[in-house]
Amino acid sequence: MIEWPKQNDALGTANRGNPCESGLCTLCLASCKGRCETWVSSLVGRKLLYPREFGGSTSGSANVCAVGTGYHALRIQGYAYGARGLKADDTVAPADSSFPQVDVRTEFGGEIKTKCRVPIMTGALGSTFIAAKYWDSFAIGAALCGFPIVIGENVVGVDRESILDQGGIRSSPELDRRIDTYLRYFDGHGAIIVQMNVEDTRNGVARYILDKYGDKVVLELKWGQGAKDIGGEIQVTDIEYARFLKDRGYIVDPDPCDAAAVAAFNAGALKSFARHSRLGGVDLGSAR
Ligand code: SF4
Repeated sequence: MIEWPKQNDALGTANRGNPCESGLCTLCLASCKGRCETWVSSLVGRKLLYPREFGGSTSGSANVCAVGTGYHALRIQGYAYGARGLKADDTVAPADSSFPQVDVRTEFGGEIKTKCRVPIMTGALGSTFIAAKYWDSFAIGAALCGFPIVIGENVVGVDRESILDQGGIRSSPELDRRIDTYLRYFDGHGAIIVQMNVEDTRNGVARYILDKYGDKVVLELKWGQGAKDIGGEIQVTDIEYARFLKDRGYIVDPDPCDAAAVAAFNAGALKSFARHSRLGGVDLGSAR
């Protein structure tokens, strides 16, 4: 029997009755003051897609379904036939195959190798307020453990303290803070990686990193931000800050300089603005 749980803590939605696949209750009452996804989205539209407590929460998908395939359907049935990576004089005998002997160090890169003590890395922690708030614990932990951490896109652009002009980035306190925090504890294992999207490229992040940090920082070209379903990556409740982001070249929705949006904001009907990044691309006709 297939059931559709429609209570979503991330969105703060729940059905009054028994939900069916459409998201409605099997008995949708005209008198209902419920808060199912259909009901709430009829009031707030696509804004419902943002997890609640934005800026103070991290949200993940609970999208697990017995129908179709997904990572949840992948099962690795392992068998202990031999081993790789043993030291020269080790055997697969129980005496050598002990827990303290395990070595999961790895490396990646073409000509220049990045070494890691453990084969993991973080997701990108970018311009969201929660990433800035908890950066120290992530960065210091990653550096001490010896694995790479990624600074996500737009960190320079959203920083009100950063100074940009026609010549590029003059200063970027928040980007510096994040890099310096990691490098303070870095001992040669792991890496500090900075993502660069369309807006970062326009702002001159590559030149700034190269001039200030040389090869201490890895750059990651980012292509896909605008391809996300919801697009807007941060919500801004301060109209002056929304205008600042627009002046920095971001797409801000709705336009914080538009008279109707300003009136709606002042009246309390509009409570926040979404900042979007652009989708990267090339001017080639095909991949060939
Ligand atoms: S509006 Fe209808 S579908 Fe939504 S919770 Fe109420 S009864 Fe259920």
